Amino acid sequence: MKRKRGLISELRAAQRKSLVFLAGISLVLGAAISAQAALLAEAVEKIFVQRASFSSVAAVLGVLLAVMAVRTLLSYGNGRIGLYMAARAKTAMRAAVLRKLAHASVPVALRGQTGGKVSVTLDAVDESDSYFSQYLPRMIEAAVIPILILAIVFSQHVNSGLIMLITAPFIPIFMVLVGLTTKNKSEEKFTQLADFSGTFLGSLQGLVSLKLFGRTHHQQQEIERSSLGYRDATMGILRIAFTNTFMLESIVMLSIGIVALELALQLLVFKSLSFHTAFLILLLVPEYYSLLKNTGTAFHNGRTSMGAVRKVEEMLTGIREGEAPTDGDSGTGKTGGSIEIDLADKADKPERPNLDVLRMPLSIGMKDVRFQYAPDSFKLSASSLAFEPGQHIAIVGKSGSGKTTLLHLIAGLLKPTAGEVLVNGYPLAQYTEASWFDHVGYITQHPYIFSGTFADNIAIGSGRDVTRSEVVQAAEAAGLAALAAELEQGYDTFVGEGGRGLSGGEKQRLALARAFLKRPAVILFDEPTVGLDLQTERILQQSIAELASKATMITVAHRLYTIRHANRIIVMDNGAILDSGSHKELLARLPQYAEMVDAGRKGGFA
Ligand code: ADP
Repeated sequence: MKRKRGLISELRAAQRKSLVFLAGISLVLGAAISAQAALLAEAVEKIFVQRASFSSVAAVLGVLLAVMAVRTLLSYGNGRIGLYMAARAKTAMRAAVLRKLAHASVPVALRGQTGGKVSVTLDAVDESDSYFSQYLPRMIEAAVIPILILAIVFSQHVNSGLIMLITAPFIPIFMVLVGLTTKNKSEEKFTQLADFSGTFLGSLQGLVSLKLFGRTHHQQQEIERSSLGYRDATMGILRIAFTNTFMLESIVMLSIGIVALELALQLLVFKSLSFHTAFLILLLVPEYYSLLKNTGTAFHNGRTSMGAVRKVEEMLTGIREGEAPTDGDSGTGKTGGSIEIDLADKADKPERPNLDVLRMPLSIGMKDVRFQYAPDSFKLSASSLAFEPGQHIAIVGKSGSGKTTLLHLIAGLLKPTAGEVLVNGYPLAQYTEASWFDHVGYITQHPYIFSGTFADNIAIGSGRDVTRSEVVQAAEAAGLAALAAELEQGYDTFVGEGGRGLSGGEKQRLALARAFLKRPAVILFDEPTVGLDLQTERILQQSIAELASKATMITVAHRLYTIRHANRIIVMDNGAILDSGSHKELLARLPQYAEMVDAGRKGGFA
């Protein structure tokens, strides 16, 4: 709750100048409204009571017209300032959201329903508009103008002033009551929208799996459920808004009626009031209530916007305490959300000195590393491991023994629950993510292909501008030359979503081409479990060997060939490192290893 005020007041503080300007304009606007009423009363009195000639009224009417023009201009000016403030605040928030996403460590960025998170956060930024464009200008007007009007009425006729003073608080009290209920409703609406977006995106991403498993009907019902939930939340807010408007109008009409009745009695029965005064007050009263009423509407909008700003703030500061993280694609069964992560925004306040430059060659080590995805689940422990620069290491073990998890810990994609991954003797956490990723190439089993041309997809590996000939060289080194020649538009063929699909082997070679462009000092390789055709496998093997000739390579290995050629093999079992050594050493001393190799020979490696 404390942080909520944080973002709003921060955004407000950044606009102090505009707020002072708004207050100034509101004051002049108040004067213009009062002057307009006084001039109108004057003109009406002259024409209808004194029956003065047109020429003697003309001057008053002329000034009245000028005041009306000024009033319109001032209202317009207030609106413009509000829009300007909203635009500035939204730009600042969008920039903060993008900065957060760009600088957040990879586990943070991967956490939760990414689709839901981004779409809802950017929608929330838009919804925050009315806080600045309406709520603040109206609130400032309400703080200045009604007091001015009240002072004038009091100076003219105390009874009317008292009625206005007594009836006025009903409007804000009513507003606060309604505002508080809408605030909760608006937060509920955003939660429903996040749920809806997430379910929808999750279903789209997992469409193939859903179809294969005959779950489309179930998912359809799920989408319907979440869309109905969103509709109900929106209708709930609208219902409150409509009732709110109706009640406000009733209070205002009643109040104006009471003042008018009192004025009529004073004017006609007691004859204690001049026509000019009575008419002036009668003109000012609707202005007074209409300002308070506008404040009511603005307050309602402001509350909705505050709910939105709060959503943005939550995204910026991390995930709400105690909120169960959710995973977009529940079909995988792996909940990426439960990873223990550092929620601090590294970009804004570096908590420790970040080492930017990595010394070459790189040595990698592990010191008492412990990791758990969630309490009471799979545990990984690696007490002490050290890889020399240039070594080729193979990680082997049964499926589910923690090989990929270990690789992700080394890559820095997961953070150890305890202990440290060491790079050149320093904890990995001390390096900036960018400087570490500059030296790491990760070839996964399912590399991501972006929607773009074949060349773009390779070039993305370098992180810099590269020439076409560099791309072609990398593609050739990764054994992609033949494929490029086969493609209709060569390197300019569109691949990925909406373009030509690529086979598993082609995708891995594309990932290799990316690595060739980057020439990383550390290569992390998740060897394919599925059998590729012999030709592809040979090309991959050759390319990897060339790429790894000057790098440290850590492979989650499934091929006997890879294992035999590794300098060192790490055998994992149930999250622990059973042993490590050369192929020969392990064959001699670890019966499980010998068994595994034997099974591997028969084609059954994990
Ligand atoms: P391997 O690569 O040896 O097959 P993994 O490292 O992928 O093994 O998995 C080790 C264990 O951790 C398995 O029990 C797996 O179910 C679990 N696991 C993997 N990823 C996640 C995740 N994101 N959330 C929770 N548990 C996970």
